[in-house]
Amino acid sequence: METKRTVLIAGGGIGGLTLGVALRRAGFSVRIFERAASLRPVGAGITMQTNAILAFRTIGLDTAVAAAGHAMQRGSILDWRGRSLGTMLVSEMAAELGAPMIIIHRARLQEVLQEALGPEPLSLGVKVVGFREEPGSVFARLSDGTEVEGELLVGADGLRSTLRAQLLNDGEPRYAGYTSWRGVCEEAGVADPFSTSESWGPGLRFGIVPLGQGRTYWFATANTRVGGVDAPDAHAELLPRFGHWHAPVRVLIEKTPAASIVRTDIHDRPPVQSWGRGRVVLLGDAAHPMTPNMGQGGGQAVEDAAVLARCLAAEPDLPAALARYQALRLPRANGFVSQSRRFGEMGQWENRLACWARDRLFQLVPQSSIRSNLRRVLTFTPG
Ligand SMILES: Cc1cc2nc3c(=O)[nH]c(=O)nc-3n(C[C@H](O)[C@H](O)[C@H](O)COP(=O)(O)OP(=O)(O)OC[C@H]3O[C@@H](n4cnc5c(N)ncnc54)[C@H](O)[C@@H]3O)c2cc1C
Repeated sequence: METKRTVLIAGGGIGGLTLGVALRRAGFSVRIFERAASLRPVGAGITMQTNAILAFRTIGLDTAVAAAGHAMQRGSILDWRGRSLGTMLVSEMAAELGAPMIIIHRARLQEVLQEALGPEPLSLGVKVVGFREEPGSVFARLSDGTEVEGELLVGADGLRSTLRAQLLNDGEPRYAGYTSWRGVCEEAGVADPFSTSESWGPGLRFGIVPLGQGRTYWFATANTRVGGVDAPDAHAELLPRFGHWHAPVRVLIEKTPAASIVRTDIHDRPPVQSWGRGRVVLLGDAAHPMTPNMGQGGGQAVEDAAVLARCLAAEPDLPAALARYQALRLPRANGFVSQSRRFGEMGQWENRLACWARDRLFQLVPQSSIRSNLRRVLTFTPG
């Protein structure tokens, strides 16, 4: 009888779970170790853009993800008073590329992925603390003191990846200079259910994203020192900054319980040219953490998972499969790291004159060039 090839995965986030499903469906044996005792994603939405849905399609997950979310129709950039700087009919682009742009609650996405994975491969409350290799095998060292053997160990353990630290030893991620808040307003009728927008003010941004069933996911950013905390609560931080912005910004904040608003300092890492060594390789935020300005971090983790699973299934020689995975994924994912950082820097400008010039320039960008950039972003090539 042929024995199944065993892949160990550190981290049960979007990247780790998607890879787990993809590999199991390709006939691999999979074990996922997640340090959290239960999978409870932050109470926020996430945009799975068309490229992520196309990557899910190669795993047979696109229909389930799309059914659990809400298709985006139209996206606009506004100024803080609500004047349009540019609009894009997302639904047209989605139709052209053959897959929708989906906004989904993170908890629902997690459920869909866990359901597709099944309960057996996932060990909760187990941290991967390191690894060692022997000829023909890799051993993941676990927080309970045991070791587990596999053919390959994948670090899908996020921004502060333990496996990346052992592989690359490149220190802490870099702070982008701004923090973010995310919330879900459960009250129906507050925001337009068909329009997604991001509004720009000096050193501040506010995004409004319909989640379906009347709910609205929103996010905000502000320039501030790293490690700040909301005092006395998130409303007290947000209302003085955004309370005078265009409707319905104030109402969205007020109608979201302060305790449910999540604050996250924004980090990334400078791109690197290798994500692995021997029988260990990185994926998702562990490999290429990026600022969220293009809404692509999770999408790139899904693309990684789809491509890595295909490479492993098609190529029995492990070094060749991992080399192909990195050759296919490094340029695209690293490109998003750099582009997202630049977008964020410009989006967080504080100087009013510079902001005025940025807004006017944005209005002058031809639709054709916005569309061709978006087409490149949203196209997924499995390799
Ligand atoms: C404000 C904000 C908005 C965003 N919006 C979007 C968006 O709209 N669209 C989008 O595509 N992306 C978005 N992102 C980015 C997206 O959230 C991440 O890129 C994505 O979650 C990365 O998935 P991952 O599985 O690689 O890592 P993570 O989601 O970080 O998962 C890593 C998992 O590994 C576990 N772990 C860590 N260390 C260990 C260890 N040693 N052993 C075992 N388990 C471990 C963690 O507990 C975690 O569950 C946003 C990010 C932010 C901050």
